[in-house]
Amino acid sequence: MSVFFVICGPSGAGKTTLLTRVRRRFPDLVYVPSYTSRPPRNPRELKAGRYRFISKEEFERRIRQNGFLEYAVYAGNYYGTSRSEVQTLLKAGHDVIKEADVQGVRQLRRRRFGGRLVAIFILPPSLPELEHRLDKRGTESGAARRKRLAAVLDELGALDLFDYIVINRRVPESVERLSAIIRAERSFHT
Ligand code: 5GP
Repeated sequence: MSVFFVICGPSGAGKTTLLTRVRRRFPDLVYVPSYTSRPPRNPRELKAGRYRFISKEEFERRIRQNGFLEYAVYAGNYYGTSRSEVQTLLKAGHDVIKEADVQGVRQLRRRRFGGRLVAIFILPPSLPELEHRLDKRGTESGAARRKRLAAVLDELGALDLFDYIVINRRVPESVERLSAIIRAERSFHT
């Protein structure tokens, strides 16, 4: 059965960096971008391929058409996973990797989608370190920053949803850990 790796973790934990490195190591693992109604942070993000940016109206139209395998509202914006895209890939025998927040993982745990879910949570070494990373990134301030830090506390209450937790102290070490998890899970056949 194909494996659906879902990477979760607070904004600022280093998910994007880790995902980029891990994708380079496993070129046959198919990365599936998310849909979001959040506006791009900058022109670079528009091209980065992590998201497909759509309007709130378009997102809601897709919800009504049952187009998402899971979706969530995070800090006031929609985020979701295309149902048909993931199901088609898994059915064709590909292993898939993508990110989602805790609400998304909770929905995926309850759903059948033709693959085996492996949920991995990336944790920052500490809360002050997370705040520091968020500030250094400089993309959120005021209410948005507060909402994101509140969401982190929510997420920490849901760690039992996950198969693995990786504490991201140093990127190279975390990439090794993630790679070991991916290799082990891909060689585990049900
Ligand atoms: P950000 O705005 O910082 O890019 O993302 C906010 C949160 O939404 C992050 O926790 C990110 O992992 C999560 N997210 C990204 N894509 C998806 C998705 O497809 N579904 C869900 N449920 N959450 C997502």
